[in-house]
Amino acid sequence: MMSSSKPLLEIRDATKIYGTTGLFGRKGGPQTVALQDFNLTIKDKPATITTIAGESGSGKTTLANTVLGFTGLTSGQILYKGQDIEDLNRRDKLAYRREVQAIFQDPYEVYNPFYRVRHIFDMVISRFKLARNKAEARDIIEAALKVVGLRGDEVLHKYPHQLSGGQRQRMMIARAYLLKPGLIVADEPVSMVDASLRAMILDIMLRLRDEFNISFLYITHDLSTAYQIGDDIYILYQGSIAERGETTHVIENPKHPYVQLLIESIPEPDPDDKWDTHIRFPSEEEMRGSATSGCRFYPRCRYRMDRCLEAQPPLYAISDEHGAACYLYDEAEILERT
Ligand code: SF4
Repeated sequence: MMSSSKPLLEIRDATKIYGTTGLFGRKGGPQTVALQDFNLTIKDKPATITTIAGESGSGKTTLANTVLGFTGLTSGQILYKGQDIEDLNRRDKLAYRREVQAIFQDPYEVYNPFYRVRHIFDMVISRFKLARNKAEARDIIEAALKVVGLRGDEVLHKYPHQLSGGQRQRMMIARAYLLKPGLIVADEPVSMVDASLRAMILDIMLRLRDEFNISFLYITHDLSTAYQIGDDIYILYQGSIAERGETTHVIENPKHPYVQLLIESIPEPDPDDKWDTHIRFPSEEEMRGSATSGCRFYPRCRYRMDRCLEAQPPLYAISDEHGAACYLYDEAEILERT
């Protein structure tokens, strides 16, 4: 589908406001700005892993849901290979559903418990006409399972509840792989699994990126896994970008006071081990009490100044693509308005 010289995914000025609307369009209740003027570009090639990091309520799941088409934007655009996903015709919509796949935190919730695993794969094959006959279907299922380290005779005859959590998660990745997607939206895929399984799944993501040219939008609250596998990172704070850039630049040299605080909070008994620990984002409880105008981080910022309350800071250029939305860098060029 569509031209491939354009970026794989482009999000332009995406804003999502949740809230009720009463009769005749009148406001019917409080509104929540889940995402505000968010911009992102994922190049077409080579494939990359782009992390969207933030705590719950930061807008990262809203972002995943809008890219997957589960909910629309209030304003702004999402373009896949240059085409606005809101304007796709029926054929392109089906192609988009095939090319943009999702993997979730808890794959168990996604599957119909009354279907055997085999049937789950057969449904995808028949919906997207991936095979001409049963033998071909069997071959592509086996090939997809092999990519994630599973075998058909281990899982295909079972029901989802008979698989281990790790098998279910890998089966979901195999199902996504089967469709040869251009992009996988991975929403907290490793947050509920143990350390060895986490390493295995992150490794599969890297292989899919490097061997099969599949890009990822990796949604997480965990900076350590982003550091391990991510190319670019966008760190959200209450619906807006606090800092973005190449992952190693941002995490090794954080500029936004919020991101500095996150990195400092990593326990550091042994510097070599520091990325094996999880970096905890503050709870929503701790996040309450945000400023009503200006910089949203103002109430918690150790560098806050009066001017920070006047207007939301734009994203200032730290270097090339590394930007921080903070007035401490106001002598730098503006990358974009947030
Ligand atoms: Fe702190 Fe001001 Fe920067 Fe916001 S703009 S993070 S309040 S220094």
